[in-house]
Amino acid sequence: MEPDRLFIVVPCYNEQEVLRETARRLVERLGILRDKGLAAASSRILFVDDGSGDATWEMIEALHGDHAEIQGLKLSRNRGHQNALFAGLMAVRHLADVTISMDADLQDDIAAMDAMLEKYRSGADIVYGVRDRRKTDSFFKRATAQSFYKLMGRMGAETVYNHADYRLMSARALAALSSFSEVNLFLRGLVPMVGYPSEIVFYERGERFAGKSKYPLGKMLHFATEGVTSLSVRPIRMITTLGFLIFFVSIATIVYSLVRYFTGQTITGWTTTVLSVWAIGGLIMISLGVIGEYIGKIYLESKHRPRFLIDTYLGDEDETADCTDPANAAARMETV
Ligand code: UDP
Ligand code: MG
Repeated sequence: MEPDRLFIVVPCYNEQEVLRETARRLVERLGILRDKGLAAASSRILFVDDGSGDATWEMIEALHGDHAEIQGLKLSRNRGHQNALFAGLMAVRHLADVTISMDADLQDDIAAMDAMLEKYRSGADIVYGVRDRRKTDSFFKRATAQSFYKLMGRMGAETVYNHADYRLMSARALAALSSFSEVNLFLRGLVPMVGYPSEIVFYERGERFAGKSKYPLGKMLHFATEGVTSLSVRPIRMITTLGFLIFFVSIATIVYSLVRYFTGQTITGWTTTVLSVWAIGGLIMISLGVIGEYIGKIYLESKHRPRFLIDTYLGDEDETADCTDPANAAARMETV
C-alpha cells in the first residue's frame, strides 16, 4: 500500500520560544514516518499563526523558506485555539489524505504518531491521542478528573476521557467535520459526533517545552462551559426536570397542609401561603423549561448540523451514491 499524504497541523499563539524546536522535531519525525513507509514523501507540516503578537509568524516564514515540508497559515487575528486548529484542518482538507493535529508546545509525545498512522492504515478514520496518566497521577487526581468528564457527559458534552486535541483524522472524517457548520467550535465534543471507525493511542503527556500556558484556569472553566452549552441543550432539560420535581413536592405539600388545615392545627393564612409558594414556583420552573425547550430547538436548528453521515454505500459497481459526500447531506442531525 502506497503511503498516504500526511499533514501535521499545529496552531500557534505567541509560541516564539518553542517554535524552532517544535519544527526541528517535527521535521525529524516526518523523516522517520517516511522511512517507515507511514507517510508519503509529499507530507507536510502546517503551522497556523493564530494572530500572534510576537515573532511567531516571522519564524514560520523563515522555517517555510528553509524547509520544503513546512507550510504556514496566518489568521487575520487571534481567534482561539479551536478556531485556529479548525482553520488549519479545513485549509488542507483537500490536499491531505490524513491529518494529525497537535499543540505547538511539545507536551504531546510526537513518537505516538507512528502508532496513530498504523491504526489509520488498518482502517481507523479517527485516532484519539489519550494521555496515559495512570502511573503518574494520584488516586485523588484521577478520581476528580474522571468525575469531571462524567459530569460533562451528563450535561451533554460527551468527550473522550483524557484526550486533548492531539488526534489523527482521515480526509473522510474531515469532510464530515466540515459539514458541521456551527460557529461555536468545541472539537473534542464534535469529532466523536462524526463517528466512523475510531481508535485510541496512549501516550505520556509532558510539561510545556518552553513559554507559558495560554490556558489559565479561568479560560479552562470557560472552555468547559462552552463545551456544554455549544454541544447540547441538556441544561435546559434539567430546568424542566427540576420544575416537575418541585411541582410534585408542592402536591405533597398541598395534601399535608390540607390535612393540617382540617385538623385545625394551623394559623389562618399559612395554608394558602405555603401552597402558592410551592405550586407557583414549580409551575414557573416548568414553564421556563418549556420555553427553554423551544429555544433549544431553535439553537440546534441554527447550527445546521448534518442529520446523518454515511459510512459505506453498497451499490452497483459502476455507480457511486451521491450521499457519501457529507457536503451533500443538507439534512440536519438533532443532538440532545
Ligand atoms: N493556541 C492558539 N490560540 C490561542 C491559544 C492557544 O492557537 O488563542 C495554541 C497554542 O499555541 C498551543 C495550543 O493552542 O499550540 C494549546 O495551548 P497551550 O499549550 O497554551 O494550552 P495548555 O496545554 O496549557 O492547555
Ligand atoms: Mg500546552
